[in-house]
Amino acid sequence: MLIFYLFCVTMICRAIENNYTEMNSKELIHDNKNIVYQRVWEKIRLRVKTSIMKNGGKLGNLNVHFKLICFFSIVCSSVWIAWSTNIFWLSCLATIITGVFLLLLVINGAHDASHGVLFRSSWANTFYLISSFALLGIDGILWKLRHIQAHHRNTNVHNVDPDIMENIFLRLSPTHQYRSHFRWQAIYAPFLYLIALPHTFLVQDFEHLALRNLPYIKKIPNFKVAWLRALSLKLIPFVVFLFVPAIIFQFDLIKSFAVFFFSQVSASLFFVWTVSLNHFVVGTEFHKQEPGGNWFNRQRLASADWNGDSYFYVWWMGGANAHLAHHLFPGVSHRHLVQISKIIYEECDSVGLSLLKFRFWEGVQSHYKLLNELGKGKSNLI
Ligand SMILES: [Zn+2]
Repeated sequence: MLIFYLFCVTMICRAIENNYTEMNSKELIHDNKNIVYQRVWEKIRLRVKTSIMKNGGKLGNLNVHFKLICFFSIVCSSVWIAWSTNIFWLSCLATIITGVFLLLLVINGAHDASHGVLFRSSWANTFYLISSFALLGIDGILWKLRHIQAHHRNTNVHNVDPDIMENIFLRLSPTHQYRSHFRWQAIYAPFLYLIALPHTFLVQDFEHLALRNLPYIKKIPNFKVAWLRALSLKLIPFVVFLFVPAIIFQFDLIKSFAVFFFSQVSASLFFVWTVSLNHFVVGTEFHKQEPGGNWFNRQRLASADWNGDSYFYVWWMGGANAHLAHHLFPGVSHRHLVQISKIIYEECDSVGLSLLKFRFWEGVQSHYKLLNELGKGKSNLI
């Protein structure tokens, strides 16, 4: 009996000791990892600060402003050609160009303006933000609120990040409830993507204002003003793209409507097949709730880059493709993002931290793969 008793006591003590050692080593590994993340982040921050100071500060410069003037001139010329020409293919081409460059005005300018770094003056940033978004029928002030207060702070967090709101059409996160029709989503998603911007224009702002339990919506100081502003800004595309050509310049109303609608479609496709690669590819992390932990590491795991170190693509996309750099340094003009991306890549590489970065077509394939996996109900991506 005594031997059996001593045997039991010894086994229990060993089990407790093993468990304690295991817990301690897990905590130690966790702490060590956090120390590595923090060190890498501090090194990156220091190098980026020096690089920005060397290159003239965090704000947009004349090159950025000149680019926006060129893009705006392209929009004006192409929409005029689309309205006025009788050559069908030329009208179609001009319509597509109008949509793409309307979106580029937002991606290159309004996004930086929302972060307060397009111009020095906050009035100029707000003016650019509202007017460029208004051409697409989107309330820029509301967009800024959801982008900064919700998306940047709670990237890929279920029903807090407005970019992954649960819906019955697409399952974009493993945290979303599974429905049987999602198994076809990889096939029908490209058709839904055609109307991504008309949906934002006609539905999303109102839907978010009506769903007041969204955390970022609760920060709106005056709801009456917000509704009034959203409603008035929706009228602007109708005035610019229907009233002006049909009533003032006497162009055909149906043609004007076609130019308006198909420019929105081309802008939608351009938007989805570029910007959606930033957070919706295989490997990005999604969370049911705010995960805590090291902030730099969370950004590293929630954002993806495509051609993030390419001067051309970063110039063209206003840095939206150098997305990790933007999420780590949101208060810096996109003109610095190639340099910042290179610093991030070097520092992460030096300690073996993997990053989600790929070429454009690899990103498109990865987005499709994610749609397919989520459509099959896979939820092991969290
Ligand atoms: Zn941003």
